[in-house]
Amino acid sequence: MRAMPWLTPVLSQWQQRRQAGRLGHALMVMGRAGVGKAELAEQIAARLLCQTGEGCGHCKACQLLANGSHPDRFDLKPDGQQIKVDGVRQLIGQLEGTAHQGGARVVVLHQAQRMNTAAANALLKTLEEPMPGVYLLLLVDQPSVLLPTISSRCQRLVVPDPTAAEVQQYLGMDADALSEWPYWQRLLGGPRVLAQWVEEGMTPKILQWRQAWRTSLKHGLLEPELGSVAPEQGAVMLKVLYFELLDAAKKRPERAVLFAPLLSELQDTAALLERQSGFNLTPLCQQLLAKIPRQHGGA
Ligand SMILES: [Zn+2]
Repeated sequence: MRAMPWLTPVLSQWQQRRQAGRLGHALMVMGRAGVGKAELAEQIAARLLCQTGEGCGHCKACQLLANGSHPDRFDLKPDGQQIKVDGVRQLIGQLEGTAHQGGARVVVLHQAQRMNTAAANALLKTLEEPMPGVYLLLLVDQPSVLLPTISSRCQRLVVPDPTAAEVQQYLGMDADALSEWPYWQRLLGGPRVLAQWVEEGMTPKILQWRQAWRTSLKHGLLEPELGSVAPEQGAVMLKVLYFELLDAAKKRPERAVLFAPLLSELQDTAALLERQSGFNLTPLCQQLLAKIPRQHGGA
């Protein structure tokens, strides 16, 4: 695993709370998608379960963790697009006994913002009446949020965005592909997600989409390559347009009002493409393009 030095101060913050005896049973770990929240949760879980409390890497608990077979370590992930009530109930059922190893038990809820209302309500009871020794780590992809009834019962840890230098170090040789660093972070997310796109050689492709959107906006005619983007990349292709328009709106305030409904429609459509497949991108892009006044489209 590549080092994520920006997690170190966040982990120290957690350790200070622990040493001060102020560790709650539920912790919300917030940060951009791909910034390393799951890695941070792993490090916290290791410290909670390790027999020395330090994540020594040698004790029986640490060895079980390394094998992925620690009986007191639980994960709950979205089933499809949502964390559903059945998953939460099953988890709570598993927690009803006592710890196998006689110590703490740690549950990591991945993409906790995907809990549907029924799942959140089922979890709420556990938050209101914490089980002794059970630690819940709820990982939330910002800017998403949890229901206030849930978040108000959790302590918080925020994983900040790494600096450009930290990301370059993380990506190693891949960093060359990311000279427009703030743009990539806004468009794609944190370093872990970025690394994936870079490894798949997708960044030049995305720059082509951006150029294609600029040409399309100029002529009011959709460039064919935008309609033929692979379905799983459709959301990012639309986000490229979103940031083009957002930047255009920032340059000329009168555009901000004009673009506001369109920007929100673009966000919704991109979110829909992330959740569902089977869309025909060409008519979808054509419809969006038709809503952009031509004289305002260009950057
Ligand atoms: Zn250990």
